[in-house]
Amino acid sequence: MKKIVIEQLEQRGITVDDIALIVFDLQKSYYPGLEKEVCLEAIDAVLEKREVQYAVLTGLALDVLAEQDLLPEPISTIIKMDESLYGIDEILALAITNIYGTIGITSFGYLDKMKIGLIGRLDSSLGYVNTFADDIVAAIASAAAAKIAHNQKGNGKYHH
Ligand code: MG
Repeated sequence: MKKIVIEQLEQRGITVDDIALIVFDLQKSYYPGLEKEVCLEAIDAVLEKREVQYAVLTGLALDVLAEQDLLPEPISTIIKMDESLYGIDEILALAITNIYGTIGITSFGYLDKMKIGLIGRLDSSLGYVNTFADDIVAAIASAAAAKIAHNQKGNGKYHH
């Protein structure tokens, strides 16, 4: 299932490498000497979780269906326009950030505002519907950052 999730993310122009850059950005000031490999491992652990996989697949499917005009109205237009009051994209993303507790939610709010790296590119890519994708990326990055924070607290021991 994780393989399918990574493939579907890539089909939408999202690579784990790009997400790792965001995680690195979030955590570098807290952990000097943080390596990209640690960020990639944390993302991998996040993508291992079934509730994360389901949230990613659901969000990406809705983006694709909206893009292809396959959703009924009025939701088709609402998702295509990324209506500011819609908010279900953020709600879905919370299913991802929640897995490692509140640290993830704080980072998610920050990324949602700052639109770092790939998140900004997704947010402004013309011709594509990325209403769910930008929040999914922000959520995976936040959850991975939270996992790194938890691991550091436990002296490098992994808590699953
Ligand atoms: Mg969005």
